[in-house]
Amino acid sequence: MDAVLPVKSYEIISTNPATGEEIGRVPIGSADDVAAAVRDARKAFDGWRLTSFAERRRLVLAAREVILAEMDDIALLISRESGKPVAEAISMEIAPVLDLMRYLANSAEKLLRPQKIGIGLYGLLGRVSQVVYRPLGVVGIIPAWNYPFSIPLGEAVMALLAGNTVIIKPSELTPFVGLRIGAIFTKAGFPENAVQVVTGAGETGAALVAAAPDKIMFTGSVATGRKIAEAAAANLTSVVLELGGKDPMIVFEDANLDLASSAAVWGAFCNAGQSCSSVERLYVQSSVAEELTRMIVAKTKLLKVGAGDADDVSVGAMSSERQLKTVFDHVEEFRAAGATIETGGEMLVPGFNEPTERVETAGGLFYMPTVITGATNDMLPMQAETFGPTLPIATFETEEEAIRLANDSEFGLTASVWTRDGARGRRVAERIEAGTVCINEVLYTHGIAQTPWGGFKNSGRGRTHGREGLLELVQPQHIHTNRLAVLPDAWWMPYSSTAADAFRGFATHFAEGSPLKAMALMPRLWKRIRELMRFNKGR
Ligand code: NAD
Repeated sequence: MDAVLPVKSYEIISTNPATGEEIGRVPIGSADDVAAAVRDARKAFDGWRLTSFAERRRLVLAAREVILAEMDDIALLISRESGKPVAEAISMEIAPVLDLMRYLANSAEKLLRPQKIGIGLYGLLGRVSQVVYRPLGVVGIIPAWNYPFSIPLGEAVMALLAGNTVIIKPSELTPFVGLRIGAIFTKAGFPENAVQVVTGAGETGAALVAAAPDKIMFTGSVATGRKIAEAAAANLTSVVLELGGKDPMIVFEDANLDLASSAAVWGAFCNAGQSCSSVERLYVQSSVAEELTRMIVAKTKLLKVGAGDADDVSVGAMSSERQLKTVFDHVEEFRAAGATIETGGEMLVPGFNEPTERVETAGGLFYMPTVITGATNDMLPMQAETFGPTLPIATFETEEEAIRLANDSEFGLTASVWTRDGARGRRVAERIEAGTVCINEVLYTHGIAQTPWGGFKNSGRGRTHGREGLLELVQPQHIHTNRLAVLPDAWWMPYSSTAADAFRGFATHFAEGSPLKAMALMPRLWKRIRELMRFNKGR
C-alpha cells in the first residue's frame, strides 16, 4: 500500500477487499455535478436520438471490440475492486455482457420495429393504428457493487440502442469499474456526453434521482429501492427496481443428485454468495436429504478461498465489512436457533487465521463457504437476504409443502426446481412466485440477454433484458390515421335524437365486435352522418 493519505470528505477511497490495499480515490459527485451531467446528457440526447440503428449498432460493436482487446485487464480490475476471482469476472460478467452487446446491437431495431395493431371494427371505418417506440431521454443507472461491470454496462447499452443518453452512478465500492465503463464508450467513439459516469455514494445517487432524469434503472437493496421510488415520485420519474432475493432451490428425490449438489455449491458460493439470484435456501425431499447433504459438504470442502487473482481460488473476498458482518450474524443466528454447521461457519480474521492449503487470505474480508442443516423457515436468516457464502438446507415431504416453503418469503427473484419428471418440474415452476424459475439449472439466467430479468414481490418492479427490458427504455407512441377523412365522425357534436339512436346502435351492435351485427348498424350510422353534414354545411 502507498503512504496513507488523509481522507478528504469529498473523495471515496476504493480498496481491494481481499487485501485492504488502496486502489485509488475518486471524487464524490455533488448535486451540482449531477445536475450539470443531466443538462449535458439532455443536450447530447438531441443529437443521439436522431442517429440510425445502424450507427448505434456500429458504436456498440466497437465498444465490444474495446472490451475484447482489454479483457484481462478489465477482469483484473473487477476482481481487485469487488473481490471475486478473475475467472468469475470473465465468466459471470465479461462473457455475458459481450453476448448481450452482440445480441442487442443486432436485434434492437427489430425488437423496436413499429407495430401495426389490429383495431377490430374501427378498421372497417377506414382507421389504422401503429405503435412506434420513442426514446425516453436521459436514463440514470444506479447499480450495486456485486456485478459492477455487466449490470450497468448492459443497461447502458440497451438504453443507448433505444436512443437514450445515459448517466451511471457506480456503487461507492466499485467506482473504478464504473469509470472504466465510461472509458470504454469513449474509446469506442460514442459522442460526447452520450454516456457519463459520476462517482459518489448514496447522496450522489439521491442527487441523480432528484435531478429528474427520464428513467432510473436501480439495482440494490429493498430499503434503497423504496427511498428511490419515493424520491422519484416527486417528479413522476419512472423507475425499474432490481432488488434483493432469497432464492429457493427445491430438490425432489428423483433429481440427479450429483448434478444438483454441484449446482447448489456453485449457486450458493459463486461471487462469494453475493448474487441477487444466489441459492439462499435449499429444500430437499427428506428421503434424499442425507445423501445430497453429504455430496454438497464434500464438494464444498474442496473449494479454495483467497484473493481472486489466483487461478485456483473459487471463493473470493466479501465485498465489504458490512457484508461480512451480516454473514457472520446470520450464521450465529442459525447456530443459536439449533441448526447444525456442517462445514465452514468461520470468518477469516486478518492476522489470526494461518494460511492453509484451502485458505490464502492475505488479510482481507473472507468467510468460509458454509453448509448448514436443520434450517427451518422460522429462523430469521431463512427470511432475510444473507448475500454471502452460506447454504442452509431444510427438508420437505411433499410437493405441496415444497411450494409453500419456497413461496414463504417477501422476495421472488429466481428459484430452481430439480427433478427428472418434466411435468412436475413445469407444474411446480408455474406455482413458484419468482420472476425466473429454472428447472434443473441455477443462477445464471441473468446472462441470457434475450430473456426478461426482474422480480416478483419485494424483489423488484419492471424488467431488464429481453424485449420487456428494452420496452422499459422507450415510450410507446400510438399513431392513428383516418384514411377516410372525408366524412364527419358519427359521434361528433351536436347531439340529437338521431345521434342518441346511433350511439345506442354502437353500444348494442358495434361494441359486440361482429362485422355482421355492425353492418345492421349502417343505415342508422349513415342517417346520423348525413345529419352532421347538413348541420356543418355552409357554417
Ligand atoms: P444498496 O441499496 O446499498 O446500494 C445500491 C446503489 O444505490 C449504490 O450505487 C448506492 O450508492 C446507491 N444508493 C444508496 N442510497 C441511495 C439513495 N438514497 N438514492 C439513490 N441511490 C442510492 O445495495 P448494495 O449493497 O450495493 O447491493 C446489494 C443488493 O443489490 C442486494 O440486495 C442484491 O440482492 C441486490 N441486487 C439485485 C440485483 C437484481 O438484479 N435484482 C442484482 C444485483 C444486486
